[in-house]
Amino acid sequence: MSKFQELGLEENLLRAITDMGFETPSEVQEKTIPILLGQDTDLVALAQTGTGKTAAFGFPMLQKIDAESRTTQGLILSPTRELCMQITNELKNYGKYVKGLNVVAIYGGASIQDQAKQVKKGAQIIVATPGRMKDMIGRRMIDISKIEYCVLDEADEMLNMGFYEDITEILSHSPEDKSTWLYSATMPKEVSAIARKFMHEPLEVTVGAKNTSTKNVSHEYYLVNARDRYQSLKRLADTNPEIFSVIFCRTKRDTQKVAEQLIEDGYSAAALHGDLSQNQRDLVMKSFRNRQIQMLVATDVAARGIDVDDITHVINYQLPDEIETYTHRSGRTGRAGKSGISMVIVSKSEVRKIKSIEKIIQQKFVKKDVPGGMEICEIQLFHLANKVKNTDVNHEIDVHLPKLEEVLADFSKEDLIKKFFSVEFTRFYNYYKKAKDLNIDPGSSLQDKEYSKDSVRYFVNIGKKDGLDWQDLKDMIRELTQLGKDDVFHVDSMDTFSFFNTDASHSEMVLQAIQGIEVNGRNVDIEISKDKGRKGGGRGRGGSGGGFRGRKGGGDRRGGGRRKDGERRGDRDRKSSGDRGGSGSKSGSGSPFKGKRRGTAKPAGGSGTGGRRRRG
Ligand code: ADP
Ligand code: MG
Repeated sequence: MSKFQELGLEENLLRAITDMGFETPSEVQEKTIPILLGQDTDLVALAQTGTGKTAAFGFPMLQKIDAESRTTQGLILSPTRELCMQITNELKNYGKYVKGLNVVAIYGGASIQDQAKQVKKGAQIIVATPGRMKDMIGRRMIDISKIEYCVLDEADEMLNMGFYEDITEILSHSPEDKSTWLYSATMPKEVSAIARKFMHEPLEVTVGAKNTSTKNVSHEYYLVNARDRYQSLKRLADTNPEIFSVIFCRTKRDTQKVAEQLIEDGYSAAALHGDLSQNQRDLVMKSFRNRQIQMLVATDVAARGIDVDDITHVINYQLPDEIETYTHRSGRTGRAGKSGISMVIVSKSEVRKIKSIEKIIQQKFVKKDVPGGMEICEIQLFHLANKVKNTDVNHEIDVHLPKLEEVLADFSKEDLIKKFFSVEFTRFYNYYKKAKDLNIDPGSSLQDKEYSKDSVRYFVNIGKKDGLDWQDLKDMIRELTQLGKDDVFHVDSMDTFSFFNTDASHSEMVLQAIQGIEVNGRNVDIEISKDKGRKGGGRGRGGSGGGFRGRKGGGDRRGGGRRKDGERRGDRDRKSSGDRGGSGSKSGSGSPFKGKRRGTAKPAGGSGTGGRRRRG
């Protein structure tokens, strides 16, 4: 007897389950299906996204309705058109061997007449968004006076979206004695309230911990010109050399395009969308799970099933059409008790959507700046340094050592370090240098106006490895300097070092307050960063190159792609730094890192490389 059979499901449903390849019931299915089949009861079920809630209420409903009757017996309310269509499709799949079954989707943005016609043919189950449903009831196109089962799917989302009144109105047209099944990822007060109001002594089933969905995820947004989205994306990736991420685009076309561009620029990326065959999708997912792909570019629909635990970043290349989809996106990170970051690249015209999303997720976004080219260079350089530090020596080299020493005999240790890093670094830097002759106007944006203060950016040799994220660091700096909340800004915590800004007038005091204090037994070094900040020297909106990334198995095509890009980028950044005066000086002074980090950033130890591989 299969596990599904043990739950009490009938033969025609079991056949469909086999067809779909479901092997074992998920926890929420195991816990709720027997209850719903066994009795007519109200139920509140709490389970995270992606745990199979649709089948948990879908199977019992399909088994309990009378498919020979044409009366509408089941109503499923769901927050968005997308979910509505998805649930309808799932139910049709589950019920494909149920003779006479008719499931109809009701949602806005499509012909109401067509939908009314479908309902008239006799729909035992209606899956609807609250707005359109209320409308159709009002116009007497739908009769729900005889329904026996009502599902409130993603109840928290529906309430967040302000559907409370609509739901109340709709349910007032349904019978008192129906069973109501409420499924939700979280249980905010509003959901408890609706449960109290519309349900009679509901049984409660909880899968996993309550209300943990978004706790581990922090949300950031980056305001850029729409045309600079791609360049911003690259910079965000370059700032996080260990990134393992899902990048969401709105359309299949954009998804494909962004993935192709990333690959061309030397990143290990791939596209995941509905135009790929199942086989292709499986291959992509396998590579992603194996970390052969670092950046998975996906549509919302294709990313639904992604259940990879270690995703460090979700990047919203564009915001979704329906802002509530954002929750599903950001839920791809911060799983299994780990923390994650959800980033949004947003243009001026969309920035108001951020506020609406904050309401839905009940969390605040942090506005951040796309890092400048020089800052990225620094990060990449020190990433490499840490990698070198932590690399196990391959003793096959030993036999060649005498000869190698001969070749390099004339160089001091310092020279060797310089040369070694230049191998990786010069090409990237050259893009910059070469680029500064081209002079493309970066254009204006809100960012420029906001950033009129004369501020100073600092470098400190402590960071995440010392257990300090940007918030911890900000707190610490404020405590040491007694500066106010808004006086310390643009705090960026990296693995072994960090940056932050203050107004220039505070700089002397800040240096004094922080220099030499002890963290984890080490003395903290602080310097004024020559790169005036993520907003200073490198603040242009142009692209960043692939950092050191392109080298990995790189080919000519890559180099070419990067060079072109680098020209544009450098040019813009250069322009900006010139505009800011003073901070542009280093662009012309040989290495951008001259006299800067050496001897300052002392990694606190631990692995700087992580286990992730990159491939072209
Ligand atoms: P939720 O509503 O909890 O977010 P869904 O019902 O949308 O989750 O299910 C997520 C995915 O898991 C769907 O693609 C669905 O087909 C699949 N799924 C559901 N139940 C099972 C199962 N028992 N075994 C394998 N896959 C399942
Ligand atoms: Mg669902």
